Amino acid sequence: MKIAIMGAMPEEIAPILEKLSEYKTTQYAGNAYYEASYKGIDLVIAYSKIGKVFSTLTATIMIERFGAQKLLFSGVAGAISATLKVGDLIVATKLAQHDLDITAFGHPFGYVPEGAVFVEADKEMILLSKEVASDMGKMVQEGVIATGDQFVANEERKNWIGSTFHADALEMEGASVAVVCDALNVPFFILRSISDAADMDASFSFDEFLETSAVESAEFVMKMVDKLVE
Ligand code: SAH
Repeated sequence: MKIAIMGAMPEEIAPILEKLSEYKTTQYAGNAYYEASYKGIDLVIAYSKIGKVFSTLTATIMIERFGAQKLLFSGVAGAISATLKVGDLIVATKLAQHDLDITAFGHPFGYVPEGAVFVEADKEMILLSKEVASDMGKMVQEGVIATGDQFVANEERKNWIGSTFHADALEMEGASVAVVCDALNVPFFILRSISDAADMDASFSFDEFLETSAVESAEFVMKMVDKLVE
């Protein structure tokens, strides 16, 4: 089995690379891809760089070129739901693109013809994440994640995304990765740890908590991988 572990920023995959004793680095399409064997399975790890386009490219390459059969995303996000605080974990049940807008033609926000507003994450891995959470003694909230090519640092925009998509958290890569995995029939799992509240203090909070929140998420994702290989 080959599993892809993906992040958007170096900080999001660094804690994962640190856990591996050795890996092989391949440069491709402007990015580095790290391959390692881990507990009898193969891993391919990469950070995509920020946003929907780069995350689409990286997810596609991990599947098409490196042969990943499952994909787990680890990263940070802005909270919409008031119950999510910095460092808390959210598992995406489904994801939407909050900045995709052809409403002028009567379609709902986030909808693209021949597509759908939401893409659902793999139910088996969500179920597995409950076991991992209980093993680790951690609380993990399930919820909707909204993705767009915007760092949201604005209460009004955040509330609009929250009410339009019933979203609990927002970020910049999840939904595009979801579209790729759905199209290529690869089960995927998107985990995020909160770095900020997507409000006017978001950039300061992000800078302060990126590293610690990224570690929270990465540790959980590695425990997910451990469960998958059991
Ligand atoms: N500091 C970076 C930019 C970070 S963009 C730079 O200067 O280059 C924010 C990243 O964290 C994205 O990968 C996104 O997925 C996630 N994220 C965290 N909080 C977010 C928020 N409030 N809005 C959008 N994305 C957020």
